[in-house]
Amino acid sequence: MFKGVDVGGTFIKVLWEDGRREKHYIKDIKHDRGRLLTKITEVVREGNPSGVGLAVAGFTSAEGKVFRSPNIPSLDGVDMAGLFGDIPVAVGNDVTLGAYGEWFYDYRDSKVLVLVAVGTGLGGGLVVDGKPFLGAGGSAMEIGHHTIVEGGAFCSCGRKGCWEAYCSSYGLERIYRELGGEEATDREIAERASRGEEKALEAVKVFREHLLVGLSNVVHILNPDRIVLAGGVLEGLKALLGDLEGDLKERVEDLPARDLKLSFSRSGEFMGARGALAFILSKSSEYMS
Ligand SMILES: [Zn+2]
Repeated sequence: MFKGVDVGGTFIKVLWEDGRREKHYIKDIKHDRGRLLTKITEVVREGNPSGVGLAVAGFTSAEGKVFRSPNIPSLDGVDMAGLFGDIPVAVGNDVTLGAYGEWFYDYRDSKVLVLVAVGTGLGGGLVVDGKPFLGAGGSAMEIGHHTIVEGGAFCSCGRKGCWEAYCSSYGLERIYRELGGEEATDREIAERASRGEEKALEAVKVFREHLLVGLSNVVHILNPDRIVLAGGVLEGLKALLGDLEGDLKERVEDLPARDLKLSFSRSGEFMGARGALAFILSKSSEYMS
C-alpha cells in the first residue's frame, strides 16, 4: 500500500491509501538534525509501504534535495530521496504536491490549476494538463515572493514588498498594528473583525486588497481555469472575504476571466500528505506502464 507523508514545522502528517491518518509531533526535535532524520525515516518506512510520496516545506529540487527550508532549517542541504533504502520515494515541495492533490482528487476537469496557500507564509502550486509544474529545478511558483509593492514591507525572505509580506499571518498582524490595533494573532484579528471591531475590519480590507492584487497577477500570467485557496489564514478569514471570484473577474481581462473559477480547498490540514500520496500513486503507475 502507498502513503503520503508531509513534513512540516510542527507535525509529520501521514495519509495512507485506505484513508488512515497519522500525526507525529516533531516541533521539539526539529532543530536536531540527527533525531529529526531518524524520525522521518521511521515514519516513512513504518508499515513497509510499496512507495511513499514525501512533501517537504521549503525549496526542494526535483531530485529530492532540500536546498532551503525556512521553517525547518535543520533539513537544509539534506538529500531526502537518498534516506530510505529500497522504498521508492518521490519528493516534492508541500504546496506543489498539495496542488497536485487538489487536481487528482477534486478537479480532474481543470487544465491549469493554481493553489494559493496562505498561512505562516504564502505558497503556490501549479498543475498543467494533469502534471505538477516544477520549473527547471523544482522551485516554480514561489509566488509568495513576487513583489506587489516596490520598496514595501519586509518579508520573511529578507526582500521587501513581497506578496507574503502582506498576505500571511505575520502580514495581517502587521497591517493590524499599523492601523493602531494592539498586538494580536491572525486568529484574534479574524475573530475581532467578525465581531465588528473597526480596526480589525479595516485590516481585513487591506489584506483582501493585497490578496486581489497578487491573484490578478497570477491570472494575467497563467490564465488558470481554477484557483484553489487554502491555508489557516484564509480559512479563518473565509466568511469575511465576500465575493472574491466576482471581484477578481472584474479586475482582470475578459478572456482570462471567462474560464476562471475560484474556490476554497476541502482537503484541510492533510492537503500536503494527500498531494504526496497522489504524486507517488501517479509516479508508480508511470513506472508500471
Ligand atoms: Zn519574500
